[in-house]
Amino acid sequence: METKANDTLKESVNNFFVSAQDSGLELRQGQLDMAMDICRAIEDRKSLAVEAEVGVGKSYAYLVPAIYNYLNEHKQVIIATSTIALQEQLSTDVKKVLEMIGTKIPVFIAKGIKNYACETRLRKVMVKNKSVVLKEVLQSVKSGEADRSKLGLNVPEDLWQQICGISYTDMCMSCKKSRSCPYCKLRYHLRRSGGIVICNQNLLAAHMINIENRAPGIFNTHRGLYIIDEAHNIENKIREAYTVSYSRDDLIHLLLNCIDMTPYKRKSEIRAYALDTAEDVELLFKLLVRQVKAQSKALDADTSVYHLEQNPITDGLLRRVLNRIKHLDERSTVILQDGIDFLNKVLNTKEYIVWLEMDGKLKICVCKKDIRRKISSMLFPYRNTTILTSATISDKNYGTARDKCGYYLNSIGYPIIGNVSEPKPSPFNYAKNTMLYCSDALCYPSLENREEYRRQSIDEIVKLLDVTKGKSLILFTSKEDMEYVYRKLSNMHLPYKILIQNKTSSQAHQLEKFRTDTNSVLLGTGTYWEGINIEGESLSQVIIFKLPFPVPDPIIEYKMSMAKDKIRDVAVPEMIIKLKQGAGRLIRSSSDKGIVSIIDPRAGRKLCNFYRATILDTLCEKNETNDISVLKEFWNRICEEEL
Ligand code: SF4
Repeated sequence: METKANDTLKESVNNFFVSAQDSGLELRQGQLDMAMDICRAIEDRKSLAVEAEVGVGKSYAYLVPAIYNYLNEHKQVIIATSTIALQEQLSTDVKKVLEMIGTKIPVFIAKGIKNYACETRLRKVMVKNKSVVLKEVLQSVKSGEADRSKLGLNVPEDLWQQICGISYTDMCMSCKKSRSCPYCKLRYHLRRSGGIVICNQNLLAAHMINIENRAPGIFNTHRGLYIIDEAHNIENKIREAYTVSYSRDDLIHLLLNCIDMTPYKRKSEIRAYALDTAEDVELLFKLLVRQVKAQSKALDADTSVYHLEQNPITDGLLRRVLNRIKHLDERSTVILQDGIDFLNKVLNTKEYIVWLEMDGKLKICVCKKDIRRKISSMLFPYRNTTILTSATISDKNYGTARDKCGYYLNSIGYPIIGNVSEPKPSPFNYAKNTMLYCSDALCYPSLENREEYRRQSIDEIVKLLDVTKGKSLILFTSKEDMEYVYRKLSNMHLPYKILIQNKTSSQAHQLEKFRTDTNSVLLGTGTYWEGINIEGESLSQVIIFKLPFPVPDPIIEYKMSMAKDKIRDVAVPEMIIKLKQGAGRLIRSSSDKGIVSIIDPRAGRKLCNFYRATILDTLCEKNETNDISVLKEFWNRICEEEL
C-alpha cells in the first residue's frame, strides 16, 4: 500500500482500503465510514463510541487507523478485548494489515499472569511430580515460551493451576528467575517498548488503576491511543477491578496470620481473642449462606450476585468482627488495616454497594456506588483518544447517535465532548435471509407460572425445531429451566441430537460437537449468549426461552434507584443489549440464513407492550410473524432457493 510522507491519517487510511481491493479485501462502506470516524477522533484528540453490527469488519476499521497513527507518532497503541480467542484473532489481523502495508512494528499479546507457566512454581511441583508433560513445559519455558496457548501441550486444568504465575507484584518482583522469565520479559517490553499491544480488558483496568494511584502503569503510555473492542463489557470489568471481596477463608486467614506473626510473649492473649473473632466470622457466614439460599429460591433466573440483607443480627456481627479486628490491630504486630477498611466499607452503605457473590464459595463484595466518575476520568482524560466499539451498545433505534447508545454511554460516564457515530449497519441481507417469530402460545413468565411456562414451552420448542429440522441454539436465563427442557427433549426421541452446556466439557468442545453434527440442538445459558460464532447450516435458528431481563441484584438496583423510570431506563436497555447479543449468534456471514424465535409472550402481539415495540425496533430481523405456518413457508422457500 503506497503512502506518501505528507498524507494525512485519513488519506492514508482511505488509500489503504481502496487499494486493498486488489489484494481481495472487499470494500465495505460501513467499514470505511467507521475507519474515517476513527481517524477524525484521533486527529481531533477526542474519544469515539461506535457500534458496528456483524459483518462491518470492525477490527480492520480500527486496526488500519491505529497502525498508520503509530507509524506517524510512535506511541504505543493498546487494544483491549474480552476473550483470549479474540486477542489471538486480532494478532493475526494485525500481522495481515502490516503485511499489506509493507511495514513491521512490534506486536505484543498480553494476557493475565495465570496464562503463563511460572518456572519457580513448576520446579516445586516437579520435585514430586515427574510427569513428561511437566518436563516439556519446563523445556519450553527455558527456551522462552511460557504462554499456555502456545505450548502446544495438554496440561490438565488442576495441574496448570499449580504451575501458572500467581501475582506479578507479590511474587515476580522478588523472584530470582525474573531476568530469564518469559512473563517478566513480556512485562518489561510492555512497559518500555512501543508497538501494538493486544490485551484483555482486565489488564487495561489494572493499568488504569495503577496510573490513577500514581503507581507505574503496566503499559508504556497513559496518553496514547486506546481501543476497546467488545466495549459493552468494560463497565463490569472496571467495576470488578474496583471491587474488594473477602470470603470466610480470607477473614479466617487474616486472623490466623495474626496469631502466627505475634511474638511468643503475647501469643496466648492474641490467640484467644483471634479465635473468638473467628467464631463470629463463622457465624456470620452461616447466616449469609442462609440468606443466599432463601434469595435464590425466589429467583427464576441465574445469578451469582445476592443481597447482603443488613438486619440487626448481621449488622451486629459485622460490627463485632470489625471492632475485634481493630483491637487486634492495636495489640498485635500485624497490620490489619486492609481488613478494617473493608469492613468499614461494608457498613457504609451510603457510599458503597455491598453484595454477596456465590461462585463456588461465598464472598462479601464491596464497591464504590458511583463508578461512572471513576470510569470517565480513567478512560476519557482530556484530549486523549479512546475508541469504544461493539456490536451491541445501542438500546434503541431512534433519535441521535448519542440517544441510541444513551444507556450505555451514561453507565460509563462518557464525556459530552466525546464523539458518537451513527451505528454502522450490517451489510448482510437480513430482509431476505431471516425471519423473527414472536410466539403468543405461552403463559406469562411470572415466578408463580414457572412450572406451567416450562410445561407449555416444550410443545412450542418441538414445533420450532421441526421447522428447521433441529440446527438450533436455545438460549436460557436459568440453568434450572435449561436442564428441565433438556430432560424433556432428550426423552422424546427427536430425530436430532440434543446437546447441553455442562461443566464436564468445555464450551469449545460442545460447540465443536454442535458444528459437526449439523442437525443437533444445543442448549446454553450465561456465556452462550455471546461469543459463539458458528457460520452455516448448523445454526439455522436461535430460540430465546425468556427475555433476558436483568436479575434485580444490588448493582442493578442501585442503577434503578438513580433512574427516573427503572423499567424503561434500566431493565429494558439491559435486556435489549443482551437480547441483541443472543440473537446476533444467528447470522455470522453473508450466506447465513435463519430464524430468531422468541417464545416469551412479552414479545408477542397479545400483550403488545413497550417491550415488543423496542424489540421489533432494535433487532436486525425485521420480518416478523406469530404464525408458525408462515415461518415454515419462509424456511422452505429460502431452503429451496438455495438448491
Ligand atoms: S518471575 Fe514470576 S512468573 Fe517468572 S518464575 Fe518468577 S515468580 Fe514465576
